[in-house]
Amino acid sequence: MPRKKIVYILGAGFSKPAGVPEQKKLLPEILNFAPNNQLKNFLLSLYGHTINVSLEDIFTALDKSISENSIYHRFGIKDNLKLREDFINAIIKSITDKRKIKTIDYINDFAEKLISLRTSSKSTDPFAVISTNWDSLLDNSFESTAINKFTEPGKKRNIFLDYCTYTQYFDKSNIASNLIKAKGFTNIKLLKPHGSVNWCICPSCNSLFIKFAATPKTINTNFCKICKNNLNFEHPLRPLLISPTFLKDFNNVHLKFIWWNAGFELIEATHIVFIGYSLPLSDFELRYLFARSIKKAKIKVILFSENPNSPDNAADATKQRYIEFFGKALKPKDISFEGVENYIQKLRNDKKFYW
Ligand SMILES: [Zn+2]
Repeated sequence: MPRKKIVYILGAGFSKPAGVPEQKKLLPEILNFAPNNQLKNFLLSLYGHTINVSLEDIFTALDKSISENSIYHRFGIKDNLKLREDFINAIIKSITDKRKIKTIDYINDFAEKLISLRTSSKSTDPFAVISTNWDSLLDNSFESTAINKFTEPGKKRNIFLDYCTYTQYFDKSNIASNLIKAKGFTNIKLLKPHGSVNWCICPSCNSLFIKFAATPKTINTNFCKICKNNLNFEHPLRPLLISPTFLKDFNNVHLKFIWWNAGFELIEATHIVFIGYSLPLSDFELRYLFARSIKKAKIKVILFSENPNSPDNAADATKQRYIEFFGKALKPKDISFEGVENYIQKLRNDKKFYW
């Protein structure tokens, strides 16, 4: 009998109760935060007639025009590259706006529960979290919980967040992901296949730098110390965030490694919990990863509806998508509309309950 391994897959619904805006609500926010007139002019002149346009439509148009070197309305390839960069920075600014955060209590509870599970079975590999979200609320909760609740006063920390790729840190107290286990520390696996607002990448040597409490300013104004020290060359770091487009580019070496690792976590999983993830058709790369990696695991789906016993149309449509996708592997009773906060409260209150 293989050991139990739980993989938690998080979607936008995981961060929503905390106050992180959903993608469909980002456009009005981005219009507020647009860093220059060109992005604002582009959005208003082409999409100002409706705020219901999906970000996928806008980004796909930009990406298609860039890849074909064609003009999209009056915007050419140089404009579109700059527009896409500004757009991503505006998304990061909107998502990292601390004034919007309502609560992180349930996220701290989740982090504490998982670190307890990890530290109670050090020789095994009991869980991994795959987050499709860009925000870094859970990352920050893991980081602060590891330091404040699992490190004895006066001693050095021995629990580190493991992004499952080779990472560099601005903060000297942190260490590269792939050295955590080698140095005898405990790792907490968090895989982010769509990138993260606290990640920035060197466009020259591809080093991935992590900055907790990152903002677009801290990303774009920091330089790669490795290139500076070894090549006498400086270039600002760039965000590593997969934009919502039908032409997603996962060619970055770190993202490839994370996707490969995510596949392994799913193959090894005995239990999988989808939390606040709507399984959209546009996430076809992830759906393919699930289809090829999930065979025997028990599956549970946690969604949210105001009235859990009589879910609204959108929640019901999501339930249907899951049933059609997983077929007999998923029974209707394994899909709950209790919401992430109630689910995590149950996890917290029951010491033996992990999924
Ligand atoms: Zn570099």
